[in-house]
Amino acid sequence: MLRTVSCISIAALFALALSAQAQPAQRPQIATTKVEGTDGVYIFRNGNHQSMFVVTGDGVIATDPVGYGRPTGGQDYVNEIRKVTDKPIKYLIYSHHHFDHAAGGKAFKDAGATVVAHHVAKERLAVLKDPHTVLPDEVVSDKGRTITLGGTSLELSYHGLNHSDSTLVMRLPKEKIIFVVDTLPVGQVPGRGMIDFHPLEAEEFIKKVLALDWDRLIPGHPGVGDRLGSKKDAQDQLQLLQDASAEMKVMAQQGKCWEPAEKELKLSKYESWPGYAGGLPLIARRYCGLWGRGT
Ligand SMILES: [Zn+2]
Repeated sequence: MLRTVSCISIAALFALALSAQAQPAQRPQIATTKVEGTDGVYIFRNGNHQSMFVVTGDGVIATDPVGYGRPTGGQDYVNEIRKVTDKPIKYLIYSHHHFDHAAGGKAFKDAGATVVAHHVAKERLAVLKDPHTVLPDEVVSDKGRTITLGGTSLELSYHGLNHSDSTLVMRLPKEKIIFVVDTLPVGQVPGRGMIDFHPLEAEEFIKKVLALDWDRLIPGHPGVGDRLGSKKDAQDQLQLLQDASAEMKVMAQQGKCWEPAEKELKLSKYESWPGYAGGLPLIARRYCGLWGRGT
């Protein structure tokens, strides 16, 4: 009898251990991490969105509030910054105007930050009047701008159409880090980001980004294992787009847009990349727009 009980207990324990192994600890909704090897560069992550903030001697430069569908997201971000420093939040910079990155800025405004974005971002937001997205106070022209605060420089540059028409590339020259949102997923197949993607211009955009001086790329959505991107990742993403474009050009000219092309597109080289199955039809649809419609 005793023996049976202990056998059952051991079996139960074993099953428990197995289920613990099968279900890894839940990833917290919010996390702030310091970028290795920097004095004050941090990544704030909320769910599957993230942004960079920089703590300088004279205050904080924050980017994208990532508050879409998260009513407390902006304040949560401010609270995370407050855990790191009590220095004033001087700037909030939008990477582009899409709400999943730009919504939630009110908490930053209330904390005294100046909101900065590309001029097209302001034009779009002014028309859309999203109740959760604060309009920029200052705009950046296509010539770009460098923000200097507490001995830190952050370059904001515009390189034409890409995933959006209002993207600012943010570069920390000393740290050789760039923050680029949505156009350059790290090691992942693009998906929903293709909806308003500008295919031909995006290739030129990526080439221009590759020509800048940087070593590490912080993406707007966490990469696999939360890793940062490299120039190889940017090059690989460009190659993926060029491969997709070439395949779709043939299918489009055979009259296969939309549905047959969406079903037939395969890019087997990228089969092991996360997002492959879900991303392909969206990639096909966008390139059908280009090669099957001329837009
Ligand atoms: Zn976007």
